Order: sequence, then structure tokens, then C-alpha cells
Amino acid sequence: MKILITGGAGFIGSHVVRLFVTKYPEYQIFNLDKLTYAGNLENLKDIEDKPNYTFIKGDIVDETFINEIFRENQFDSVIHLAAESHVDRSITDPMAFVKTNVLGTCNLLNAARETWKNDYSTRLFYHVSTDEVYGTLGETGMFTEETKYDPHSPYSASKASSDHFVRAYHDTYGIPVKVSNCSNNYGPNHFPEKLIPLAINNIQNMKPVPVYGKGENVRDWLYVKDHATAIDAVFHKGKIGDTYNIGGVNEWKNIDLIRLLCDTMDEKLGREKGTSQKLITFVTDRAGHDLRYAIDSSKIMNELGWKPSVTFEEGLAKTVDWYLENPEWLKHVTSGEYQSYYQEQYNR
Ligand code: NAD
Repeated sequence: MKILITGGAGFIGSHVVRLFVTKYPEYQIFNLDKLTYAGNLENLKDIEDKPNYTFIKGDIVDETFINEIFRENQFDSVIHLAAESHVDRSITDPMAFVKTNVLGTCNLLNAARETWKNDYSTRLFYHVSTDEVYGTLGETGMFTEETKYDPHSPYSASKASSDHFVRAYHDTYGIPVKVSNCSNNYGPNHFPEKLIPLAINNIQNMKPVPVYGKGENVRDWLYVKDHATAIDAVFHKGKIGDTYNIGGVNEWKNIDLIRLLCDTMDEKLGREKGTSQKLITFVTDRAGHDLRYAIDSSKIMNELGWKPSVTFEEGLAKTVDWYLENPEWLKHVTSGEYQSYYQEQYNR
């Protein structure tokens, strides 16, 4: 089986590529990635020489190129992760999100439809999405697979749109699709514009740790390797046409999470307890910031037998260890463009 994984050089994609390349040596895995600021082939150094792995550099927005690689390689299945993924960047440049997340997804759907020519017996288009499409919750309740879409940021609106297109191609043309909507991921290889790796980097360097508003926003967190195993379960065992919510049953207020991270870092770095908490700095809240996300994962747990393998405390400790053991990775990704992005975002 030839599987095209898009966005495989990114945070989640690299863990999915590694899992599929190593667990299924009989599959040919093609990783298509544009290598934007968020894509990094260093994430895949350990598997790049495997005989069942091929990297293709390219842009999913480029329709001619996408049609060509489908014609050339005749992929059997697609696992689509390539996206512009950062909410703050979507507020400053929404059109980049429309192009990659909406147009790029449609280009892939069209190429799959053209290549598979109505013979869908062994085909699958699996679209990886986010719980942010559901909007925000109050103090109680959880997102289920039936929750109505209500996106609030340009990022979540673009992902919601792409989810709708994927389902529309299933309903209209019969393309076999699956969609999963996952909560916030954390773990190794996470680009340090996102809350947890940004805080780890700043705490390590004794720099202020920015927290939006009063840190009251609540998110559910899942260790990235557990998201990869969930994608494996949905890919192999999920029902065609179905949606699966994926989460860690692990809700944290941002401020409580940052305090836990500060204490974990103090312990790992041999600092006196309380040192890092002094770095916490509240900054102007993000526009349209959703208050609370919580995800009901009972469908994937009950129907596909998936569950997270680590607790949040274990996953966070593993994550901190990884960043402390990989200073070169962090140094590479925080040089250049990252510096100007950071200045603009937090030092306004
Ligand atoms: P990421 O930003 O780390 O990686 C995205 C990857 O896509 C990068 O390697 C980038 O180079 C590539 N890419 C971007 N634009 C491209 C284009 N036009 N053509 C080809 N490649 C392109 O993102 P991530 O956090 O790994 O997220 C992966 C997917 O999972 C996204 O679809 C995202 O919406 C979804 N998701 C993320 C989270 C999360 O917490 N990070 C949670 C749920 C769902």
C-alpha cells in the first residue's frame, strides 16, 4: 500500500510518519511537505534512510504539482495533516490559512478523485482536524462528534471549511473518507510558538513567560505520540464516512498548566521551587479567544479500543526532558524568522 502523508515534517506529522514507517515496513510512506517555518526534516533524521520512506518537497496549494505526484505515484491512501496551524498567525494573515487549509485540501481531494476514478474499494482519504472547529464551551459540557460547528478564529474557520469539503466529497462523489478532531497536542518537536514549548524555552532562559489574559482559558491536552496511535487506530479500524473525536480527558486552565510546568522545570534544572513561577507575565488576551475546550473521546475509546498511554504529568516530564536534551533543535528553530515573529507578537 502506498500512503501519502501530508505535513509529515511538522509536529504531529513527524510522529505519524515515524509510527507508520517503523510499524508497517510493508507500506510505502510518502511524506509531502512544503517545509514552511513549521516543517523541519530534523524531526525525521532517524528514519530518513528507511527503504519504505520517501520525502517529496512541495506545496499542496500548487494544483498542477499535486495532480502530477498523484499521477506518478498512484497513492492508495492519504493521511492529510499539512496545514497552517497557529491561531495567532491566522489573526495576522488569514489568507495563508484559506490557501493552504481550504484550497490545499480541495486540491488533494480533486487529485484523489481523478486518480481513483470511482474505483474506491481499497482507498481512503483521512483528514486530520482539530476540536477548535466546535467553538467554545462554558464551564460544563464536552464536544461530541455531533456538536455543531461554530469556529471563531480564522484558523478554526479554515479547518472547519476543509472538514466540510472532505465530507462533501464523500457525500457527493463517494470518496471514502474519515475525519478526526483532536484536542491540543504537546510533546517533542513542537514548534516554540505554541504555549508549552514556548514556556519551556523561556523558563530555561529565564525570560518572561507570556500568558494570555488571566490564564483562565481551559484546554484538553494530549501527548503527541498518543495522537499518532489514535490516527493509526482510525486509519485501520475506523468506519468509512465517520468522525472520531480524540482527546486526553485532561483539562487544564492555562495558568495551572504553566505553574505545573514551572515547578517541573525548577526540579529538572535544580532551581529553588518557585523560581520559574516569577517569570509568569500576563499579556493582552488573544482576540476572539475561546474560553474552554473539552472533548468526549468515548467513541474512539469504546469502538476502536484506543486510549492515551501516559498521564499528563508523565507526558509533560518526557517533553521537558526532550527539550533539555535537544538544545540544537531548539536553537535551529528559534533563529531567523522566529525572532521577528516573537518580537511582533509579544513585545508590541
Ligand atoms: P505544524 O504547523 O507543526 O505542521 C504543519 C506541517 O505542514 C509543516 O511541516 C508544514 O511545512 C506543512 N505545510 C504547511 N503548509 C503547507 C503546504 N501549503 N503544502 C505542504 N505542506 C505544508 O502543525 P501540527 O501541529 O503538526 O498540526 C498538523 C495537523 O493536525 C494540522 O492539520 C492541524 O490542524 C491538526 N491538529 C493540530 C493540533 C495541535 O495541537 N497541534 C491539534 C489537533 C489537530
